[in-house]
Amino acid sequence: MTSKKKYAFLDRDGTLIFEPQDTFQIDSLEKLQVLEGAIQGLIELKNQGYGLVMVTNQDGLGTQSFPAADFEIPHQAMLKQFKDAGIHFERIFICPHTSQDHCACRKPKTGLVDSFLAEHSIDRTASFVCGDRDSDRQLADNIGIEFIPTATNSNFYEALKHAGII
Ligand SMILES: [Mg+2]
Ligand SMILES: [Zn+2]
Repeated sequence: MTSKKKYAFLDRDGTLIFEPQDTFQIDSLEKLQVLEGAIQGLIELKNQGYGLVMVTNQDGLGTQSFPAADFEIPHQAMLKQFKDAGIHFERIFICPHTSQDHCACRKPKTGLVDSFLAEHSIDRTASFVCGDRDSDRQLADNIGIEFIPTATNSNFYEALKHAGII
């Protein structure tokens, strides 16, 4: 008998790091800004036994308008900041497509997490999705778990606290 684990499925841009509202693209180190309450909130989730999973849409990643290296540099710097604070994401799922691509993995579709959900014993009553967009809310609906809203570029810790998660 395996015990079930609770998971926090977390959006990245606008939820954990600042998302510029002109380009919606974090493609340089200069643009990387971990939001207030992000590290504090992630540490609290970890301490409460949540597995951390990142689920993010990155429109056109790997194309000329968003070269992979431009994504990776701030992304890795973000992960380094998290790691230095003792925070580890079990998995990081990225949809690199655009809405025109009609892929199966772009949030709110569940394509990014379907295998993960099938392969892990997940406590669905305690798990949740947290994000700043309707697509995050709909992802939670499509997975069948709770949704914790956070306003774009606001305080992640406060959003969790407000929802009674921590
Ligand atoms: Mg977002
Ligand atoms: Zn996709």
